[in-house]
Parts: sequence; structure tokens; C-alpha cells
Amino acid sequence: MTPHSLDPRAPWVISTHDLGRRPGAMLRMSITLPAPANIGVDMIGVPRDTDVELDIRLEAVMEGVLVTGTARAPLRGECARCLEEIVSDTEVSFQELFFYSAEDAAEDDSLLDGELLDLEPAFRDAVVLTLPLSPVCSEDCSGLCSECGIRLADAEPDHGHEVVDARWAKLQGLVPEHNNDQES
Ligand SMILES: [Zn+2]
Ligand SMILES: [Zn+2]
Repeated sequence: MTPHSLDPRAPWVISTHDLGRRPGAMLRMSITLPAPANIGVDMIGVPRDTDVELDIRLEAVMEGVLVTGTARAPLRGECARCLEEIVSDTEVSFQELFFYSAEDAAEDDSLLDGELLDLEPAFRDAVVLTLPLSPVCSEDCSGLCSECGIRLADAEPDHGHEVVDARWAKLQGLVPEHNNDQES
């Protein structure tokens, strides 16, 4: 928790000016904001600058402003099994209390900067928590063929390879034994 000054023009910085400070005051907002950069985990995330639709409720309480919200955001990623592109979306809920004063707040709590608050960290945390570490294009994705690398969902149902173990090949006479006697 470090007091920092927010840029009022930053898209995720919200003004609480219209809310006032009287406990019980409430304000609802429906806004669409551009997704910040780097919201995601290794293989899936929210593409930068895509539209994130937010419904938020600001509520003045004794210590600060309680923000409760839902956000709907597009997701892009890659299937961890077959590497196919994943296009989907997510809806997350979040709640964060922004304290007026650092004296009331604990180490990890969020603070208001004057009348401004930054929604981005709460949104980021909520999204990242819901993302799978190994996203799949479909639950029954069978991945790639270990022999030739073809995506099995695109392959013939009986896709397979005649794999002959080198030792068997020898026994079956498919690989001629080296015989130095006959060559001399
Ligand atoms: Zn897949
Ligand atoms: Zn194959």
C-alpha cells in the first residue's frame, strides 16, 4: 500500500466526485473500458484494448468507497493440448474497498487518491484468478499425435502409425543382420 497519484485521464481511473462522502450514498455505472495490457496467464488472457464491459456500484461507507462490480471481457488463448487458438470470453465479479486514509488501511488495502480510484488491479486480480493454467479448446480435446504432430481432432478417427520396434524388426528379418563373414 503505497500512496500514489493517479492519472485522472487513465481509462481505469474512476472519479467518485458524484458520489460524495456521506455513508450510504450509492452510484451505479455501466461503462466500457479498453482492456489494459498483460491481463492473463501464460496461455490465455484478455487481449489489450478490447472492450471490457463493466457494471459497477460505488457505495460510500465510513472508511471509504466500496466498489462492487462485474466485468465481461473477451479471452484469447491457445489450447494447451493441441495449440489451436481459443476464442471465448469471461465474466468476473470483484469487490474492493478503497480507503480514504492510509491510517485506516492495512498493508495490502487500496486507497483513494483524492476523489479518484483505480479499478484496474481489482479487475486484473479477478480475471487472473478465473483463468485456467492449461486452457483447452474443448474438454475432450485429444491433443496432437505424438508421432507426427497432427491435431487429432482434424485427423481420421483411426489415425495411427505402424510403429515397429527396432528389436522386433530384427527378429522379423526386416533389417538384415550385419554379417562380416559373407562380405569377405
Ligand atoms: Zn485442443
Ligand atoms: Zn500421427
